[in-house]
Amino acid sequence: MSPLSLNTVTVKERWGLAQSIEGCARHGIPGISPWRDVLHAMGVAPAAKHIRDAGLSVTGLCRGGMFPAGDAAGRAAAIEDNRRAIDEAHALNAQCLVMVCGGLPAGSRDLAGARAMVRDGLAAILPYARAAGVTVALEPLHPMTCADRSVLSTTAQALDLCDALGDGLGVALDCYHIWWDPDVERQIARAGTRIAAFHACDWLVPTTDLVFDRGMPGDGVIDIAHLRACVEAAGYKGFTEVELLSRRWWAEDPDQVLTIMKDRHKV
Ligand code: ZN
Repeated sequence: MSPLSLNTVTVKERWGLAQSIEGCARHGIPGISPWRDVLHAMGVAPAAKHIRDAGLSVTGLCRGGMFPAGDAAGRAAAIEDNRRAIDEAHALNAQCLVMVCGGLPAGSRDLAGARAMVRDGLAAILPYARAAGVTVALEPLHPMTCADRSVLSTTAQALDLCDALGDGLGVALDCYHIWWDPDVERQIARAGTRIAAFHACDWLVPTTDLVFDRGMPGDGVIDIAHLRACVEAAGYKGFTEVELLSRRWWAEDPDQVLTIMKDRHKV
């Protein structure tokens, strides 16, 4: 069975980062993937020490990206913020910095232009990431998020960027975002050792919210075990990170959520 990791967004309504670290240790979950809001609330240096002392691996830092903007100042600010995120990922010894690349700038219909801004933004931060030894993991997001979160929608698109921009880039493959893709098996094989993270959550039927209704693995229609087998066949031996953005699970006692997470973790 793959080692399990808790993405902190899964318990964000009830637990800060210190409680999440302690929760992982208490439940025997060996990995954690913090979001930057809870990281900043705790402080980067104290968080790094607390995680190290608890013996946890940092399977990713969420998130960088959000490159497209309506003007040059906005794009420069995004690049600057991504450099800070790289510093934080380095301080945490994170296995990758997860990139949610960004949607269309407000009021824009220029999808090709937004995609070019993503490419240019990544090119601008890559030398800094390489120098810090931080892997930048492109996370393709389901196309329903194309307008406001990610103009990067498919694994193929992400790998094309990896091919074009070179070393230091990888992909974060999230079952929720890639499961529908008829080309997913072929693209996972193409990704090979560039797979930097594997995120698990399920697609509920019906899905009642575009962002906050992700399912606990096992509650929906995604064959997570099959996708896990595909990434392993491609060479990925790392963690399965459970990342639930879900009002239903946020309302639960986090200790109960972690117990169920472990129980459902069969891949
Ligand atoms: Zn994810």
